[in-house]
Amino acid sequence: MFTRDEFNLTKSKYSKAVKKHSIILAVGSVMSGLFSLQLLKWCDDKFTPNIRILISLITFFIFLTIVFLLYLKLKKITNETAPKCPECSKPMIGEALRISSATGKCENCGGSVIG
Ligand SMILES: [Zn+2]
Repeated sequence: MFTRDEFNLTKSKYSKAVKKHSIILAVGSVMSGLFSLQLLKWCDDKFTPNIRILISLITFFIFLTIVFLLYLKLKKITNETAPKCPECSKPMIGEALRISSATGKCENCGGSVIG
């Protein structure tokens, strides 16, 4: 069971970590998208249409992979840093965090989170 101060500190660390990795996801997605576009623009007059299509597909899948990996990292950080219920160990994220913060009870099991 958390004290109010411990709960607020854990919640604050969680919020900072999620915000940081959300920004990394957003910037990483935009930067890899812009890099893909520049690469394809550069390829336009240097290769035959078939090679350009192949390069476009490879670039697109690399872009998707980067965005997917950044998204997985964000999900992992979210689950690792979120305050966990002392009763059922479920991470309290989003609405569950707001409910437990207001009521002191776990949304999942109803156990006391803040004492
Ligand atoms: Zn619980």
